[in-house]
Amino acid sequence: MASKRDYYEVLGVDKGASEAEIKKAYRKLAKQYHPDVNKAPEAEEKFKEVSEAYEVLTDPTKRANYDQYGHAGVDFGSGGFQWQDFSRFGDIEDLFSGGDFFGRNIFDLFFGSGMGGFQRRSGGATRGTDIRYDIELSLQEISEGTERKLNVSRYERCSDCNGTGSSSGKLSTCPVCKGRGQERRQQKTPFGYFSVVTNCSRCGGRGKVVDKPCNRCHGDGIEKVRKDIEVKIPAGIADGNHLRMRGEGNSGVFGGPRGDLYVVIHEKDHQFFTRHGDDLLCEVPITYTQAVLGTEIEVPTIKGKATLKIPGGTQSHTIFRLKGQGIPHLRGGGKGDQHVRVTIEVPKKLKKNQREIIEKLAEIEDKPGKSIIDRFKDAFT
Ligand SMILES: [Zn+2]
Ligand SMILES: [Zn+2]
Repeated sequence: MASKRDYYEVLGVDKGASEAEIKKAYRKLAKQYHPDVNKAPEAEEKFKEVSEAYEVLTDPTKRANYDQYGHAGVDFGSGGFQWQDFSRFGDIEDLFSGGDFFGRNIFDLFFGSGMGGFQRRSGGATRGTDIRYDIELSLQEISEGTERKLNVSRYERCSDCNGTGSSSGKLSTCPVCKGRGQERRQQKTPFGYFSVVTNCSRCGGRGKVVDKPCNRCHGDGIEKVRKDIEVKIPAGIADGNHLRMRGEGNSGVFGGPRGDLYVVIHEKDHQFFTRHGDDLLCEVPITYTQAVLGTEIEVPTIKGKATLKIPGGTQSHTIFRLKGQGIPHLRGGGKGDQHVRVTIEVPKKLKKNQREIIEKLAEIEDKPGKSIIDRFKDAFT
């Protein structure tokens, strides 16, 4: 596999670049390489590379890991980089609309705001575009499953013209294409005349025209509104997973179907636990005497606490397993386990009576039979 390029180099920014600078660089490159826009064979790979760099460098945790450990420090999890998992790239609007991803929509960037954007793209009834919405969940929420109310900015059918784009609500058959939506044109090329079929220049492919465009939507038939959408998050979901909510994306245009809403999951770091698949790991300190003599300790679990038996003679960094105290499996029943790594804490300060006892113990404790130096020598003879 070819080695990965440096993310900063990919975006063409300095190591110290601010988030705003990174966004700006990304926006420029995404526009250049988005597969909807750029049909060159290498554009798709470039676009993925740029999106991945953006994803890492705008996430403070991932960026810090990347700065410290390079590509090895940025783990996209078993699913790999998630853009590849989307069933398709989605229309380019996905990148710029909804979820405060950038807080502005694509028409500002590509077509100038207002009329014409939709018609110019494909005319007629057009499927609404997908929206990406990122949410952060705590490990607690992930372990129990939760519900979230998303405030999504999305296109809805225009309330003034009921989606027709016409101020009177009336539509008439296009006089140019007679309602077919397409025009056949003779085009002159070095090889002679060719007949090409294009979207009708008058109606943009819709087959119908309005006498006077609606004032509210300028004839697009849609308007941007904020909507609260409830989403159920299943227990066991993981960082980088996404939920697809069918038909909750942008409204279609002129009778086209709605797009989908993709809810992308980000997992917040936990104070005590790190997650490994559906298992959880935490570290618990014990004293020397607890390790030597054995004891029972209370350890935190994601649900509360549990009692853990430490047998006498436990070595530092021993890992104990609390079965079924991990994260529920996303598919199918059961849960992961919790692993508890005990570490022996050596006191930095001793009270006078403690020191006396330890010194006595030092006099009578069994020393290792052979020094480590002798054992080392033995290994080579
Ligand atoms: Zn027409
Ligand atoms: Zn309207």
